[in-house]
Amino acid sequence: MNYAIAIHGGAGTIVPEDMTPELEKAYKTALDEALNSGYRLLAEGASAQKAVAAATISMENSPLFNAGKGSVFTHTGGHEMDAAIMCGHDLSAGCVAGVSNVVNPVLLAEAVMEKSNHVFLSGLGAEAFALKEGLRLAPPDYFYVPFRYNQWKAVRDTNTYALDHNVQAADGLLKDKKFGTVGAVACDQLGNIAAATSTGGMTNKQYNRIGDTPVIGSGCYANNQTCAISSTGHGELFIRVIAAYDVSCLMEYKGCTLQEAMEEVVMRKLVNIGGEGGMIGMDASGNIAMIFNSAGMYRASQKNDGEKYIAIYR
Ligand code: ASP
Repeated sequence: MNYAIAIHGGAGTIVPEDMTPELEKAYKTALDEALNSGYRLLAEGASAQKAVAAATISMENSPLFNAGKGSVFTHTGGHEMDAAIMCGHDLSAGCVAGVSNVVNPVLLAEAVMEKSNHVFLSGLGAEAFALKEGLRLAPPDYFYVPFRYNQWKAVRDTNTYALDHNVQAADGLLKDKKFGTVGAVACDQLGNIAAATSTGGMTNKQYNRIGDTPVIGSGCYANNQTCAISSTGHGELFIRVIAAYDVSCLMEYKGCTLQEAMEEVVMRKLVNIGGEGGMIGMDASGNIAMIFNSAGMYRASQKNDGEKYIAIYR
């Protein structure tokens, strides 16, 4: 039986001149480590659920990505993280939104799925549940990364929220847009698929804003009959097109392949309403697709019968 994993570390306009060889190497190394942590488990016969969780944890622990450590700052100068996980064999799912002290939000989403009677917990209630489950918590300075702080400083006195990595150019236009959300999809040796997604959201986001990342069907979805999807991009637009579930519907009701369905959603439906970003997808035969309508997407994949793939630009 084929097994495979694909991961992303965010999509967007990653301007090549801002990317030094050292930074590019650091991103590729971090992607490689995350990929290996999931792939190793699959090779040992672990479930797709455990593989996507492990890969996501690896990126949450890296300050390079906008998830866990390295999450962007909110309007009030804090961190509010969102995450989700879903299993394709029984449609079980767990999601959390607006947690500020949980080191690995994806583990909290998994605990919600496995140990509560609920699917979606938010804010203080989600944090209380994390405490009860003995998950690792940390004070605000754990999540602080100077690069994110400077991004926030540039926009904190405005009412706008910015996409991760936005850089204000002299003409006032936002030059560099990168969404640093992380995610993974996997197919295990039993043919079960799973998806996970985790994010700090958008710089300077206000009013307990929640994006697509923890919303089942938008930022994350898995169903063995169709696909597992993890999204990254401008969350408001991904919610409006119900992006991840729409890929599944196109496969289920219209007979599209994974690649065709993802192209329809990412390159047409999202583009039509100005939704920038991308997604990674996996079907239960271990086929992988990674589609984005932005200049780049941090991404990597590995199949049991294929080469390792790591890329940033097209
Ligand atoms: N989708 C995320 C959000 O809207 C942002 C990202 O992908 O970086 O919160």
